[in-house]
Amino acid sequence: MALIWNRTVDWDAGDWRRVAACRDTEPDLFFPVGTTGPAVEQIEAAKRVCRTCEAQEPCLEFALATNQESGIWGGTSEEERRKLRRAWLAARRSAAGSGGSVTSIAVNALQR
Ligand code: SF4
Repeated sequence: MALIWNRTVDWDAGDWRRVAACRDTEPDLFFPVGTTGPAVEQIEAAKRVCRTCEAQEPCLEFALATNQESGIWGGTSEEERRKLRRAWLAARRSAAGSGGSVTSIAVNALQR
């Protein structure tokens, strides 16, 4: 049986990886081991890089769409993304065809 994936997110639009702020950083920074002790500062350091990144939104959208469970993506931790992904999936279902950014809708829904 062939597996067909209907791509609903065009995360390569604009080639966001080319402007990723993490391109010139140590990749391990974005993959802390655990969430306590030294990992806390590592997570915050990675998020500081993300806050300067032009690709933060497409990066987060990619991580949500592809269910990236590990690491820091789009300025979010693993735990934050787990919560955000539920809202993102719900927003995606309800916003189909609205033309809005599903990630923005989900982030806004979480912040309410
Ligand atoms: S948002 Fe963070 S993880 Fe994503 S591309 Fe930018 S710096 Fe890298």
